[in-house]
Amino acid sequence: MNRRAKILSSEARERLVFPIIHENVIKWIYEAERKDKIIMELIFLGTGAGLPSKSRNVTSIALSLLDERKSIWLFDCGEATQHQILKSTIKLSKLEKIFITHMHGDHIFGLPGLLSSRSFQGKEKPITIYGPKGIQEYVESALRLSGTHLSYTIAFEEIEPGLLFDDDTFSVSCDLLDHGIASYGYRIVQKDKPGALYAEKLQEIGVPPGPIFQAIKKGESVELEDGRTIDGSDYIGPSQAGKIIAIYGDTRQIPASLELGENADVIVHEATFEAGLEKLAHEYMHSTTHQAAELAKKTGAKRLIITHISARYDKEGSGQLLEEARSLFPETELANDFSRFTI
Ligand SMILES: [Zn+2]
Ligand SMILES: [Zn+2]
Repeated sequence: MNRRAKILSSEARERLVFPIIHENVIKWIYEAERKDKIIMELIFLGTGAGLPSKSRNVTSIALSLLDERKSIWLFDCGEATQHQILKSTIKLSKLEKIFITHMHGDHIFGLPGLLSSRSFQGKEKPITIYGPKGIQEYVESALRLSGTHLSYTIAFEEIEPGLLFDDDTFSVSCDLLDHGIASYGYRIVQKDKPGALYAEKLQEIGVPPGPIFQAIKKGESVELEDGRTIDGSDYIGPSQAGKIIAIYGDTRQIPASLELGENADVIVHEATFEAGLEKLAHEYMHSTTHQAAELAKKTGAKRLIITHISARYDKEGSGQLLEEARSLFPETELANDFSRFTI
């Protein structure tokens, strides 16, 4: 039984027990329960380095936050990202924020087309684009010179290392990496979630669902209508720690980048080259499998996903890259186009 069906069936059971309770109250309780089961997902739309190959498009990663904030965030937008999106379940209407790691073409050449198509679909919800200095001029020039007028507004945030935003559900910060031009990594921190409400336990002691549940859910001491006082913290489950995701842009190895991934649940890092080619990787300002795995180890991260794979590696070669990284950091996965990872 899927999650929604489970929720509905327990809702149906509830209706039998409390037939006179107002519809909205029931809805509110189950909405609150649903929010305690947040699922985030990373969807890789392009996993190649530099130029597209038959099996890998250039870089773009979607972070699906549909449960948490009904939106999708995009990290980088290489050429033809919109074509990849057409082959996925992602809807441009859900796009809320785009984060660009750096201004190399394989990370931004898909942006004007994607923004334009979103407008063709008549979308009006504004979006925010975060990126290095020059991102606003790049997008605005492409739109202006092609006579493109968007149906929605774009807010541009040209970034500096530090906190980019902080709201009820997430904070995002960034730091500078080492890639010849300004290249950033993003650290996405989900806020901790309060524990689930033990609605059945409350009903057992004769507290019917209603607005009072909100105060109980905050863990406050609450006085009931009959004069009893209950401690809200006895009726809520343990709080859930928010997840931490670190998405690195192209980079060679520098110690400063460790902070970005500190104790992360997932690190996404490039592994353009195989182990043993560290000299070449340094020259081209990229990383090898072993360097990505070493970084993951040092940060205390739980999982590593390697991406941005050079076109020189075919399917077999990519398998080899994964083995190399796993030899140092066993909890490694290798991203292919359309790979999905639940966080
Ligand atoms: Zn690149
Ligand atoms: Zn690059």
